[in-house]
Amino acid sequence: MKQPIDVPFVNLGCQLGQFRGRVLELWGQILEQGAFIGGEIVSRYEEAFADFCGAKHGVGVASGTDALLLALKALGVGKGHQVITAANTFVATAEAIAHSGAKPILVDVDPKTYNIDVKQVEAHLTRQTKAIIPVHLYGHPADMAPILEVAGHHGIDVIEDASQAHGAEYRGRPVGTWGHLGCFSFYPSKNLGACGDAGAVVTDNERLALRLRQLRNHGAKSKYAHELIGFNSRLDSIQAAALLVKLDSLREWNQQRRSCAALYDDLLSGVSGVTTPMASGQVLHVYHLYVIRTPAHLRDSLRRHLGRQGVQTGVHYPQPVHRTRAFSKLRWTKCPMAERLAGEIISLPMYPGLREDQIRWVAHVISDFMDHRLSKYA
Ligand SMILES: *Cc1c(COP(=O)(O)O)cnc(C)c1O
Repeated sequence: MKQPIDVPFVNLGCQLGQFRGRVLELWGQILEQGAFIGGEIVSRYEEAFADFCGAKHGVGVASGTDALLLALKALGVGKGHQVITAANTFVATAEAIAHSGAKPILVDVDPKTYNIDVKQVEAHLTRQTKAIIPVHLYGHPADMAPILEVAGHHGIDVIEDASQAHGAEYRGRPVGTWGHLGCFSFYPSKNLGACGDAGAVVTDNERLALRLRQLRNHGAKSKYAHELIGFNSRLDSIQAAALLVKLDSLREWNQQRRSCAALYDDLLSGVSGVTTPMASGQVLHVYHLYVIRTPAHLRDSLRRHLGRQGVQTGVHYPQPVHRTRAFSKLRWTKCPMAERLAGEIISLPMYPGLREDQIRWVAHVISDFMDHRLSKYA
């Protein structure tokens, strides 16, 4: 076997050279002016990000989780309501629903895209259903058209959880503006990441945007005019400055992710036992994660083998939300696909700056392993 190559799961340092100077300069200005909360740089970033998404308004908040919670609050979701989302999302989607006072209804997903299945949404609508949160999981947009159709038909709001899909497109238009509100996380490892926690909500609806601005700042319309019971969930200028600079490179970084994915696809699509991720014809996938499927009985041993060969991997996520201890009291719907996926998926290294020789090494280790293991048990 060849000499192992180290392939980290993510490498946030790769692009540092591209933005370091400009970020430090803005940070210097912020330090001198002492404008840490709010201020010009925050509104500049909000406008730039909304623009990037093709939305009229952008509201910066403290995290992606808060973006979802404030979006639910802005729509009046609370006690006595139900909100439908996918069972295989990051736990934060369900947490935001629970914290709003509503009940999360976790439903099963499409076996090809791993995104929420609109038939399952329809099957679980009740009179309490107030909103649907499709998640654009791994950077692949959910199938928005039928979701919006069902929602429109029943007078239900749609909030997109676009935390993994900055810059992804559905039918030629960016995600985030398909629903009533689009929520983003700028957690450092996301496709657009801050230097700490940050998030945003985008919308074309001015009334909702105003409400979100109030909610994030103690419900205040102007200083001490507290009209709602709000939150402290502001985007600070230190994060906004970093995001403003990094936003310029987002398209290029997404393109690099797509090239890496294309090479993985190429090298892995013929390997027996491996299912590569699909990108349906109507989407631009931005590969926040590159997730393959393997036979469940080989998943963990393949991960261990990759680890020994220098390749770090992840599992997103090891359990569907309803199988976590935190949500175990939830009365759940049957989600056989989400449960099956949890045992079969592996996230391979993926980040802009991942090199061709690294991708080739990962693919080589996987196909070698599969050849050996599958022939042994044939
Ligand atoms: C990251 C993420 C969130 C939460 O974002 P934070 O900024 O970490 O609060 C929510 N939903 C999904 C799908 C995510 O990937």
